Amino acid sequence: MQLIDGKALAKAIKEELATEVKALKAAGGKTPHLAAVLVGDDPASQVYVRNKVRSCEKIGFNSTLIRKDADTTEAEVLEIIDQLNNDDDIDGFIVQLPLPKHIDEHKITLAIDPRKDVDGFHPMNFGRMAQSLPAYIPATPYGIMVMLERYGIETSGKHCVVVGRSNIVGTPMSILMSRKAKVGNCTVTLAHSRTKDLKAETLRADIIIAAIGIPNFITEDMVKEGAVIIDVGINRIDDANAKRGYRLVGDVDFDNVAPKSSFITPVPGGVGQMTVTALLMNTLKSAKNEVY
Ligand code: NAD
Repeated sequence: MQLIDGKALAKAIKEELATEVKALKAAGGKTPHLAAVLVGDDPASQVYVRNKVRSCEKIGFNSTLIRKDADTTEAEVLEIIDQLNNDDDIDGFIVQLPLPKHIDEHKITLAIDPRKDVDGFHPMNFGRMAQSLPAYIPATPYGIMVMLERYGIETSGKHCVVVGRSNIVGTPMSILMSRKAKVGNCTVTLAHSRTKDLKAETLRADIIIAAIGIPNFITEDMVKEGAVIIDVGINRIDDANAKRGYRLVGDVDFDNVAPKSSFITPVPGGVGQMTVTALLMNTLKSAKNEVY
């Protein structure tokens, strides 16, 4: 079994990005600039956005954080998006989800200029991704693709089972793994809550990508010997011994599944670490006009 160290990989890639940004600036190029819009006071969103802004600073990007109260209207958020769309200094921006209930997330996603949609949530980027055209790929799936590539994990001809069909993880992941590309060429099964016999599906998998949101859901008896296990889940479970009263676990029962696997990502320290890095990679691509 080999552990896929997301923390170390994210650090290495951020160093590469910092070097690239330095060279870009030295050549008279523009400093990449990422903006983030945070509406409301969801604690997890605050942490995510803070990490994104800090990561920008560390690698030499400019960053702008726009914070708005939970009672901000949809029209006001659309107005902010319009300003960011038209601000030439901004290479890319994200609107942190989830948004307060009175704001239509789909409407917000559609309002973002696809050329600045570094989260890759706009249908234009989704469609381009599906057709193997240059596109901003959603950060979590993009981070996973980079992990598979950097660890030299063979995917061609393999059977990949993705569990979970969300728009931001499971569905794009299933498309990416089936594409004709360096990482890809898998035969893909996309499993979800209505799948009849999930165990029969996962037992056939050479690669399992779990994006469900249920702690320790994928157990040892569901996994074939030698499978590659990518655990996207981030779940809080109560733990009286932990400083904060909880700890984070994935969707995979790591302790029992790890000995059977060939490669496995831990939680924390796995996929989550790569998500912010992938967002930075998308922003640099935008600054260099590599996608559009
Ligand atoms: P979601 O809640 O939108 O979707 C969950 C999916 O799991 C659904 O498609 C559903 O069909 C499937 N599912 C639910 N119960 C099932 C069952 N019993 N059997 C089979 N499938 C079942 O989830 P999401 O937004 O994709 O997030 C999934 C997990 O990944 C969460 O724990 C989330 O916190 C985590 N996450 C992590 C990152 C990261 O950066 N590592 C990013 C996004 C999400």
